[in-house]
Amino acid sequence: MAKVKVTVDRDQCIGCGVAPTVCPQVFVLGSDNGKNRVVDKFSTNLTESISEGELPEDLYECAAQAASSCPVSAIRVQKL
Ligand code: SF4
Repeated sequence: MAKVKVTVDRDQCIGCGVAPTVCPQVFVLGSDNGKNRVVDKFSTNLTESISEGELPEDLYECAAQAASSCPVSAIRVQKL
């Protein structure tokens, strides 16, 4: 099954909370700096500046919807 790569530019993120509201299966505001991040279950890399993860394909639409809802275009979602 194809995987989906998701990247959050946490420097761009303004912590508005839309991403975790639109797609809570994938995104959560981090307790470190209040910026969006990929949930632990799918996280592959997490720093203050970036969060990356790999998702199963069935979460593509959810993550993509959050990406298109982000006011600062901080989320990138791509099928691998
Ligand atoms: S929608 Fe964009 S700015 Fe808002 S929390 Fe998600 S990544 Fe951050």
